Amino acid sequence: MSDDKHFNFLNVPREVQKTQTGPKRIANFREVYKPLKEIEASQQASRCIDCGNPYCEWKCPVHNHIPAWIKLLQKGRLFEAAELSHQTNSLPEVCGRICPQDRLCEGACTMNNDFGAVTIGSIEKYITDTAFELGWMPDVSGIKKVNKRVAVIGSGPAGLGCADILVRNGVAVDVYDKSPEIGGLLTFGIPNFKLEKEVIEKRRKVFKHMGIKFKLNTEVGKDILLPELLEKYDAIFLGMGTYTAITGDLPGLDLKNVHTGLDYLVSVNRFQLHYQDSAIDTKNERVVVLGAGDTAMDCNRTALRQGAEKVTCIHRGAMNSLRGSNRDFMNAQDEGTHFMWRLQALELVGKHGKVTGVRVGELKNSEIIQGSEKVIPVDRVIVSFGFAPSPAPWFVENNIGITKNGLIQAQSSRRLRGQTANEQIFAGGDMVRGSDLVVTAVFDGRNAAESILKYLEVGD
Ligand code: FAD
Ligand code: SF4
Repeated sequence: MSDDKHFNFLNVPREVQKTQTGPKRIANFREVYKPLKEIEASQQASRCIDCGNPYCEWKCPVHNHIPAWIKLLQKGRLFEAAELSHQTNSLPEVCGRICPQDRLCEGACTMNNDFGAVTIGSIEKYITDTAFELGWMPDVSGIKKVNKRVAVIGSGPAGLGCADILVRNGVAVDVYDKSPEIGGLLTFGIPNFKLEKEVIEKRRKVFKHMGIKFKLNTEVGKDILLPELLEKYDAIFLGMGTYTAITGDLPGLDLKNVHTGLDYLVSVNRFQLHYQDSAIDTKNERVVVLGAGDTAMDCNRTALRQGAEKVTCIHRGAMNSLRGSNRDFMNAQDEGTHFMWRLQALELVGKHGKVTGVRVGELKNSEIIQGSEKVIPVDRVIVSFGFAPSPAPWFVENNIGITKNGLIQAQSSRRLRGQTANEQIFAGGDMVRGSDLVVTAVFDGRNAAESILKYLEVGD
């Protein structure tokens, strides 16, 4: 045993604890990862060697001051760690839970290859969760109001990141969302077993305490028109996400019991949040999920928790071609998803208008192998091939430029990052970059807020 605290990683193994083993944890929708206890957080934090040139920090899209907040935690200065964590990230407790750390900070950690990365995500989650439990809130007592008003459209991570920075700079912020709760995909897309909704409820209280006003159940373009907002506010931020499901025009999509991934997940989330009386239910069914991205993994795992008889996930690529989170894939596998690789779905077949099978063919070098076609019997199919942009008809009328693919054109230069062709309007998150990550949406929202402050000549 080494006595030198700097070499604690030799004595303390990396540990990320799950609540239960795969087959057992599908009995409920609770979060899969256990929160760290105080002693565990301190031990895991002690594995960081504060390596001087922190690759973790560079790889993190918002450049969190990781070794600095780990050190504060070790010294027992929890509230300062929470304050520092909020200097770079508007939703650290969310990112701690669902960032793909294996591809970002932890993947880049100096310790990753030989000793196991520092458990940065669990520590990040521990700091904010515990600080909130102990009554900590961001200190907004010194903020001076600046007589400027901004409307944020969309309360997903991009909108929330933008609102956070603006309100901290004295700007009055109203966040509009067509949904009945804040969070965007955090609330209505991502399942509970990755992110419990109490986390977002708590965050809403924190933002309200900071002075952000939420105008929910209000769709811009329908309940209120953009020209009215342009009149009323000094600037507008758009963080409306991407919501057009890609379905590959597969024959048979109109059969009963065929859904898109997001429709399925939204129905389950809305049901669990009591916004509707029932959900798409896969209990005792043979379910096929087409696609193998993060949304597909969430569908597999949701169906298993609903009590599906068998969940088969079909992907046209090989196992090593997965581009989503490795952690989500491993969890889906652990929990009982049956994966079939290098299979191309060719058609959904049905009887009396209801889906009964998926006709597939085996692929070799992107070609279907002759004679390999077969029909996999199913009771329900979930198509999850990703998302395309969903530009609103009022973008063009209001001089908000879009690319030929439907994404919003926003400045990427440092000076007014996020500004659209209409100089009063800024944008960020999935609607600018295409469907991506929570942390990149937060990053865009915060950057756009800095641009709005420059545009409104607030501060230096
Ligand atoms: P959104 O979160 O989509 O928010 C947009 C908001 O705008 C919504 O609330 C919507 O109601 C509102 N809105 C839209 N139009 C209007 C209008 N006209 N008027 C008023 N309001 C409007 N990322 C990760 O980092 N880790 C993960 O594990 C992960 N898992 C995912 C799982 C699923 C199933 C999905 C679908 C995505 C996942 N992502 C994950 C991606 C992540 O959720 C998104 O990248 C992120 O939420 C994008 O944030 P956003 O603010 O740009 O958009
Ligand atoms: Fe600590 Fe790993 Fe970051 Fe180095 S790379 S500062 S060891 S968390």
